[in-house]
Amino acid sequence: MSELVRTALVTGGSRGIGRAVALTLARNGLQVYLTYLSKASEAEIVVEDIRAGGGKAKAFCLDVSDAQGVEDFFHNEIKEKIFLSALVNNAGITRDGLLLRMKNDDWDSVLNADLRGPFVCSREAAKIMVKQRQGRIVNIVSVVGQTGNAGQSNYSAAKAGLIGFTKTCAKELAGRGITVNAVAPGFIETDMTAALNEETRGLYMEQIPLKRFGSAQDVAEAVAFLVSERSGYITGQVLAVNGGLYC
Ligand code: NAP
Repeated sequence: MSELVRTALVTGGSRGIGRAVALTLARNGLQVYLTYLSKASEAEIVVEDIRAGGGKAKAFCLDVSDAQGVEDFFHNEIKEKIFLSALVNNAGITRDGLLLRMKNDDWDSVLNADLRGPFVCSREAAKIMVKQRQGRIVNIVSVVGQTGNAGQSNYSAAKAGLIGFTKTCAKELAGRGITVNAVAPGFIETDMTAALNEETRGLYMEQIPLKRFGSAQDVAEAVAFLVSERSGYITGQVLAVNGGLYC
């Protein structure tokens, strides 16, 4: 097992927070396997950036809401091929709408990608990490999973569910040397938030004590800490990276 290359798997590593996490973990010496859904070219640019910096990386197309696809991926690409040091469940989507107009499809796609995806990835990763007797799982949740947010009943339910999932997995896996934590970003400048209008951005800004939106790198630093050996006595926690947003 020790000859296998120590690797972090980052879902949704082609853009935004996942990209920053992938680059940061690679700088910290881990090989990075990053996944994407549709933007292969963006994922390849991240891989090239990591390789240009002397690191190791590979990109894989993987829809985290496709359970069979995730199981096949772990069987074909991860199991007995790498030492799975860390899984970062970062891939996520939003399909916003007020409750009275929320379509079943919008509910299902968000719950499938943002909650079922991390569940299936974590289960498959845990099977491997249990044998290694070592591993880190970090789930990217959201401040809205802690506070709620009008227009995001699907997304906030998925992220609140992922917080409960994190705490339960932490208890189940602690005895096997595996820690499970969550990072809860506030308002971070990525493609996901780029579509928000100036008025909404202004309303958020008013509520952020540090008076700036977060960067993907702000989140990546927290993830890197939870993946590192320095966080060995921390499990089942939610680390907020939100500029004080809900204080
Ligand atoms: P983003 O810029 O929209 O990037 C999303 C990433 O997830 C992309 O790499 C995308 O792949 C991938 N992805 C989407 N659906 C997927 C699926 N079904 N299977 C596999 N990969 C999929 O998002 P972001 O803003 O960086 O957000 C990353 C995480 O942070 C999400 O979980 C989000 O909920 C959370 N978060 C974000 C903020 C924020 O303010 N931005 C705040 C709180 C929490 P492609 O490139 O191929 O499309």
